[in-house]
Amino acid sequence: MARRALWLFFLLCLALPAWGDNEVSFQAGTRAFEQGDYQAAARYFRLAVQQEPTDALSHLWLGMALQRSGQPDQARRSLAEAIRLGGNSQVAEHAREALEALNRARPAQQEAPSQTSSSWRHVGAVQGLLGEDWHVRSTRYCRVWARNADRAYVREFVESLDQAYEINAAFMGTRTATPIDFYCFSLESPGHRQPRFAGLGPTRYLGLAVGKDTCLLNLGDWRTSRHLEPWEMTRVACHELNHMFLHGLNLRSSSGNLTWFAEALAHSIEDRVLPASRQRTLETIRLALRGYTSVDEDWRAMVAERDHDDYEQYRTYGVLLASITSFLQARYGQDAVPRILRAARESTLEEGFQAALGRDVPTLHREWKAFYGIL
Ligand SMILES: [Zn+2]
Repeated sequence: MARRALWLFFLLCLALPAWGDNEVSFQAGTRAFEQGDYQAAARYFRLAVQQEPTDALSHLWLGMALQRSGQPDQARRSLAEAIRLGGNSQVAEHAREALEALNRARPAQQEAPSQTSSSWRHVGAVQGLLGEDWHVRSTRYCRVWARNADRAYVREFVESLDQAYEINAAFMGTRTATPIDFYCFSLESPGHRQPRFAGLGPTRYLGLAVGKDTCLLNLGDWRTSRHLEPWEMTRVACHELNHMFLHGLNLRSSSGNLTWFAEALAHSIEDRVLPASRQRTLETIRLALRGYTSVDEDWRAMVAERDHDDYEQYRTYGVLLASITSFLQARYGQDAVPRILRAARESTLEEGFQAALGRDVPTLHREWKAFYGIL
């Protein structure tokens, strides 16, 4: 009897790690992918594929990570493998779409390097900001303030700002006051060290919208001491612009909490200013939330934890928050957001949901979980 039990245990030991390792690698891969670290994601998914070579889903994600890290040929091979192994499944269908999109994509994304440093104006010292070498550059809707050495670094996001403004205007169904001032700070001299903005509290932000027309951007991530890639700056700027649009509407909340809704909107719009290959879709959100177990009573609790500097940031809040808006659009129409906003301006955010969608927020929270199969 004892011997038989031991034998069983031994068999389990042999069987379990193979499954467990693949799952561990896969989850690590989706986390890296969600954070935009596609090279790390590709490494994890490659490991997952080695651990379970017949898992079509791992091949699909490996293909998407390779595509985003600029290795289209290898990406094609992985996607083809996902199609072969996936048979008639949704995974195979998704891989087929990704492969077709990859084959359609043009090799060079770079267009219009356009007028650059010539349109910067030297202003020198600016009251309340550290440094003597500030420059300012205007776009149609925005003004960007940067130190001399950072001008080349911020070029890509400066050139995307007007597009980000238009994307937000269409998404929100409204326009907002201009010009909007963006102040750019290096990791060595971040926003909260500037005398003018020292009282704002949080220290680890990438971007911080201040009121309706001012935004602080740190060019590095204080949580990880990592410099941002230019495209990440573009995404942060688009996200913060959304907060400024929302702020301009002066919405009220009967529960005194608009943050979860502001973040759900901003996270869902932030990547629309990037090339299509870097954008979330309903399908990538569904895949990322596969097997997710909710630990929050409601959406407010989720955001409160995210914004707490003392907590470890172990969850991928971006996809969770974006999933709220994607759910609203999929279930209640692509124009759900402007409808909610219009209704909310008449009363409160909560009543706006009720008037526009015929549901209260707790009901929508339950529907959201059911929609993605969240436990
Ligand atoms: Zn935000």
